[in-house]
Amino acid sequence: MRLKITYKKDKARIKELVEFACQTLDMRRIELHVKNSRRAYRGRGGYTNNGITKMAKTSTWMATVCIGNDSNFPIKVRYDQTLRDWQDCLVWLTAHEAHHCIQAKERAKMNEKGPCRFAAWRLKEFQKLNKKEAL
Ligand SMILES: [Zn+2]
Repeated sequence: MRLKITYKKDKARIKELVEFACQTLDMRRIELHVKNSRRAYRGRGGYTNNGITKMAKTSTWMATVCIGNDSNFPIKVRYDQTLRDWQDCLVWLTAHEAHHCIQAKERAKMNEKGPCRFAAWRLKEFQKLNKKEAL
């Protein structure tokens, strides 16, 4: 996986969280960009070179996750889960978009069920490890 970070948070922590989110997925030839967003979050995954984004020659599939500033959290999402902060959001959204890349890679039908379930699972695992004040 090639990771490009322009989101204004600690890069080492972002890298750690991305790795956690993508656990069990084969991320070879996948490129992930982590950016700032004006909204709480916005993402796209599983596409190939669109001619706009500069991708590495070693990457075939691409995912972009954009995350807003701290004032956007906490926020409720699908399956009654809560993104407590940007870190929860990064894990959840990265897992979702990375899963779309795997769908593309495996030429599986693109759908939302797989990515949504995978993201919910990664977030649940992350929150188990990072228990903090209930929001
Ligand atoms: Zn999706």
